[in-house]
Amino acid sequence: MVKISLFHEKMITFAAQKKNEMTQNSGNRRVRVRFAPSPTGPLHIGGVRTALYNYLFARKHGGDFIFRIEDTDTNRFVPGAEEYILESFRWLGIKFDEGVSFGGNYGPYRQSERKDIYKKYVDMLLEAGKAYIAFDTPAELEAKRNEIPNFQYDATTRLQMRNSLTLRADEVKALIEAGNQYVVRILIEPGQEVEVDDLIRGKVTINSSVLDDKVLYKSADQLPTYHLANIVDDHLMEVSHVIRGEEWLPSAPLHVLLYRAFGWEDTMPQFAHLPLLLKPEGNGKLSKRDGDRLGFPVFPLEWHDPKTGEISSGYREKDYLPEAVINFLALLGWNPGDDREIMSLDEMVDLFNLEKCSKAGARFNYQKLVWFNHEYIMLKSDREIALLFNPILESHGIKVPMERVETAVGLVKNRVNFVGELWDNCSYLFQAPDEYDEKSLKKWWKENAPQTTAELCDFLESQPDWNGEVLEPLVMEWIASKGYQTGKVMNALRVTLVGAAMGPQIFCITDFLGREETLRRARKAISALS
Ligand code: GLU
Repeated sequence: MVKISLFHEKMITFAAQKKNEMTQNSGNRRVRVRFAPSPTGPLHIGGVRTALYNYLFARKHGGDFIFRIEDTDTNRFVPGAEEYILESFRWLGIKFDEGVSFGGNYGPYRQSERKDIYKKYVDMLLEAGKAYIAFDTPAELEAKRNEIPNFQYDATTRLQMRNSLTLRADEVKALIEAGNQYVVRILIEPGQEVEVDDLIRGKVTINSSVLDDKVLYKSADQLPTYHLANIVDDHLMEVSHVIRGEEWLPSAPLHVLLYRAFGWEDTMPQFAHLPLLLKPEGNGKLSKRDGDRLGFPVFPLEWHDPKTGEISSGYREKDYLPEAVINFLALLGWNPGDDREIMSLDEMVDLFNLEKCSKAGARFNYQKLVWFNHEYIMLKSDREIALLFNPILESHGIKVPMERVETAVGLVKNRVNFVGELWDNCSYLFQAPDEYDEKSLKKWWKENAPQTTAELCDFLESQPDWNGEVLEPLVMEWIASKGYQTGKVMNALRVTLVGAAMGPQIFCITDFLGREETLRRARKAISALS
């Protein structure tokens, strides 16, 4: 009996897994996902998370990852934003397969270069009666809003407006020919059930009566709005899954209706709306102000606002390792199913699964990111960290062979969370102290310290082998034979070498400094401190 039910359970789990894989794969369709930012400013860290999840999903399913620029809102266009976004992903190590700057067979990938394509699809909707032309001026719309509380352009109001539903065809034609600006609006049929099937949230159903006849196209700039361009491009680029932030969930029913209007239901992508990133305290949406208030960046790279000149800090300039940022972000809304935390990008690809994404918002606990940064400093080889540290050494006027830098890094890297903190933790390895820490002196430089340190120097000098491992037991023996206390003798020596009672194991320091420098520092301190 037990065996059968266990077997059954396994079969059920297996079937469920298969089903998940099937739905995540949309049958046999090739997985194609996109990250489609609008170049309206720097890329927010939430956007990086969205791109990362798309990347993981594409890699996991051997699919394609597209970089599309959604720049049809010319008023919000910010110069430099596109380059900033690309540079961010280069730094983070997230690679695209096609798109702006990468090429591909579905281009152009910048929406402002696809005007003609959109016009064709707008005309298709107009001809099919799924959309209509509206001439209402901003002033007329404003007047309606004042007249009707909670005014919305929809089935209940559209017949009171100036549009191709209320005007005769020749009137419409004349208005356009006379150069009147117009917009094209989607015609939403009220009272229909609109179902959004979301891979993370399940089925979300709304009634179309709550939706308004959104603008799809504006004659003024001959550009579509986000909604139309987004749907047309996802269709033409054969996007299989739309994985994006929760803030786009309210647009999803309209998007479903657009797919229906075009008759593209069969190839409609599967939606997955990712959970919101929450403030570190967990109450409400993460904002730039939280970063300013608590001292962490919300952008991958430093951003110089071209209009205001304001500078916003970035993770790169704040000395975070890209691997740490990626690992931290991966776990904001997803988990691998166990309590594993440190994962390489390849491991994440292996383990990634939209079913394991949560609906609930993810707290942006930036302290955890500091922890990740430390872990990645430990994980990386001393050589890798040395290469990052060397420019800092050089900025302090220190030029030494890379092997020396590597050894120094190995001695102290477990003490730091950031590469930039290495200098304060090991400057004494490269330059002799010119002052001594008050507190350390008070504790360890007692009356007989000069004498015991001088004796220790003589003993050390007499040793033929300077290797720390050889020296250590000999020094211990010597201390015991003298009846001195190890702590006192060794800490006094430490203060003379380091300038304070800090640092790694003392014989690692003497090893690093070598015989001559060790004795020089110790003897100099004896005379300087007496
Ligand atoms: N252009 C939108 C953005 O800036 C894209 C939203 C979507 O992925 O559909 O995020």
